[in-house]
Amino acid sequence: MSLACPVILVPGITATSLRDEYALPAETLWSMSILSTTKEYERIALHPDDLRYETIEPARVVADQVLEVAYKELIEELRHNLSEDPERSVPVYAFAYDWRMPLEISEARLVRFMDEVIARTKLLRHYQNDPWIKNPRVNLVGHSMGGLLITDCLARYVEHFRERRDWRGLVDLLEFAYDNARSAELQRDYAVLAEAAGVVASPQIRNLGTLGGNICQDVWCWYLQDGFSCWKSGGKFCDLAGGDSRYYGSVMGGHLCLSNHPSDTAVALAALDARVHIVSPKGGREISISDFLCGHNWVGGRLQSHTLGLDEIVTEIEVPFRPTHSTYAKFALRKSWDFAIASVAVSAVIRDRVCEDLRIVLGGVATFPYRSHEAERLLRDREIDKASAGAGAEAALENARPLKMNGYKVELSKTLVRRALLSLGSVQ
Ligand SMILES: Cc1cc2nc3c(=O)[nH]c(=O)nc-3n(C[C@H](O)[C@H](O)[C@H](O)COP(=O)(O)OP(=O)(O)OC[C@H]3O[C@@H](n4cnc5c(N)ncnc54)[C@H](O)[C@@H]3O)c2cc1C
Ligand code: SF4
Repeated sequence: MSLACPVILVPGITATSLRDEYALPAETLWSMSILSTTKEYERIALHPDDLRYETIEPARVVADQVLEVAYKELIEELRHNLSEDPERSVPVYAFAYDWRMPLEISEARLVRFMDEVIARTKLLRHYQNDPWIKNPRVNLVGHSMGGLLITDCLARYVEHFRERRDWRGLVDLLEFAYDNARSAELQRDYAVLAEAAGVVASPQIRNLGTLGGNICQDVWCWYLQDGFSCWKSGGKFCDLAGGDSRYYGSVMGGHLCLSNHPSDTAVALAALDARVHIVSPKGGREISISDFLCGHNWVGGRLQSHTLGLDEIVTEIEVPFRPTHSTYAKFALRKSWDFAIASVAVSAVIRDRVCEDLRIVLGGVATFPYRSHEAERLLRDREIDKASAGAGAEAALENARPLKMNGYKVELSKTLVRRALLSLGSVQ
């Protein structure tokens, strides 16, 4: 297994000590330890007309070190646990910053610090022989204001990172955070993902939820939620199979569990050939989202929709496919705060009205985002018009085997596929 990326820990507000460099010797103005606390509010106050400088002169207050009392344990845990081999440890760097400063000042420093961390890590012998060296990146861990700093920094420097191939994974993670669903760049290049992220649940959940959590969430089958004993909860039976499968049941079959995968963004990501980056104490791995969301996987005696091990987490999502056109269509019982009964993500490269390449992925119909290679084959190298869109919709659902109560999903999904294709080809 390859080594995990080096980690930069960005602490929260007030969690970097500050010192005045003009004083001789330099004087600590802000610090906290188990034994003592220094808080010189007046001397660290910033000038109201120019926030780069202090009000009381002479003074030059700068960031000193990250407060040990808050982060030492976390940093040590990460240092010891990200690699099993003490000879091949993963470096963890704390980013000290002046939390009084406007965000853009600290963000510029953070970008330089990322470069520095990469350069330092390249000097470590065990990284020189690791695949990381070909695509060097960092993992950013933020606490409190540190998270804000990271998110805003990535948004501000998106073009800077995009120009540098070795930062691609990092940029991708940024672009696919819920918060960025409204970003003009995301809407331009990956409309399908922006649209899918924009209809997840409700604004409150979108503000807090993450893309990692959205693709890793478990099924929302009402039998499971209501505490029935079934395959997912340790039983030996699927209550939905012979029960009420109206809303969240698969129409594409399944194995043991028949509840459809609930994530909107996973459907969009599957239409973008996304790759999921995973880290555990043993190192990192990378897997296509289709293999990641296999729909059925036993891990530690538990039936999961994904292939994540007990000690693994998703750290990045990379999107290699760049469509010229893409869109997401969803049908839910309510306009907000509700899962898809059926959905479709379509992404395509269309030139001179001809569909040179495309992906069609259905949501709400299978235990995983269901990609229809049949429909894709049919439409490749064709113009999208009413006839081809209709044929594509039929092909997309040709393998459907609905349960007792959800046959209507087949027609519903065909309609969504047809509409999505027509909107892609701008056919009225
Ligand atoms: C009322 C309601 C309506 C909803 N409607 C929709 C909807 O329409 N569409 C939709 O797609 N979703 C919907 N959801 C689901 C919701 O969007 C997800 O639960 C949310 O995105 C999860 O985000 P989170 O980051 O808080 O993850 P969490 O809830 O914290 O985590 C979810 C699961 O993923 C795991 N996990 C989280 N992050 C990672 C990671 N990086 N690596 C590995 N495992 C991880 C957690 O351990 C947990 O098992 C709805 C939820 C509710 C409550
Ligand atoms: S569909 Fe899955 S979660 Fe629902 S009852 Fe069957 S096994 Fe349980």
